[in-house]
Amino acid sequence: MIKPQLSCNFCNGTRQRLLYKHNPHLVVCGDCGLVYTNFQPSIKRMMEFYNEDYFISNNSIEKGYSHYLEDKQNLINTFMRRMDIIEKYQASSGKIFDVGCAAGFFLSVAKQRGWLVHGIDISKFCKNYAQRELGINIEHGLFLGTTSEDALFDVITMWDYLEHSITPREDIFKAKMLLRNNGLLVIATPDISSFPSRIFRQDWIGIKLEEHFYYFSKNFLEQFLSKNGFTILRSGYIGKYVSSRMVADRLIYYNKFLSFFAGRILAKINFSFYCNPFDITYIIARKSTS
Ligand SMILES: [Zn+2]
Repeated sequence: MIKPQLSCNFCNGTRQRLLYKHNPHLVVCGDCGLVYTNFQPSIKRMMEFYNEDYFISNNSIEKGYSHYLEDKQNLINTFMRRMDIIEKYQASSGKIFDVGCAAGFFLSVAKQRGWLVHGIDISKFCKNYAQRELGINIEHGLFLGTTSEDALFDVITMWDYLEHSITPREDIFKAKMLLRNNGLLVIATPDISSFPSRIFRQDWIGIKLEEHFYYFSKNFLEQFLSKNGFTILRSGYIGKYVSSRMVADRLIYYNKFLSFFAGRILAKINFSFYCNPFDITYIIARKSTS
């Protein structure tokens, strides 16, 4: 079921204007400037959405991943690199909670490095995969309904999570509650104010109306976190290891004519490399002691 979203999740403002004239679903909050979709799915619909079809999608440009599980090594390499950054701020391994942990690859990296790991995801498919293939028991459900109420975590990560949530503001407060004093909240999410977003506008790959309901900017998140008991330690844009096949898909999406030959070559000689398109912002914030 789809229902209209009449007010902003962050400020409750009801003034809206269209972000792009030709996209009737993306609105900007007239009060705080947050961009969001003017509709939202029901929880039931979200639970059904993140099934096997999402992670092994025939059309990954529109929805999900072409083969998330086959991309395992790239994901692990990406998460190792991200863990290196986190460990600069949290020297000794402690308890880590990955929100929207998907198949559990980040948790698997953290566990190998000596962290006590906990994860939650809305996808039953992922829960089963993590249990069966990685030996990691993750919670199935919504972050707001987590059963780890009394556990205090050293780090809470939200990799490409917040934009998928229909309660991002509440999720940040929930994370704050579950963090120990001086614990770290790590967020990575597509940045609607980034250069690629401003160039490609409504065709930007970060806009996925079926699955992304909130579109943050780096400034918006930094300001919100700073006003709500966090200190920003580091922020910027973060990349990931990708296969040349995935890059070929993206090139074809953005420019069918120019990418025709390049796309075909990239898809044939498959290799992986680290790619930062500067449109995914990340923030590492420390929960203040007061
Ligand atoms: Zn607002």
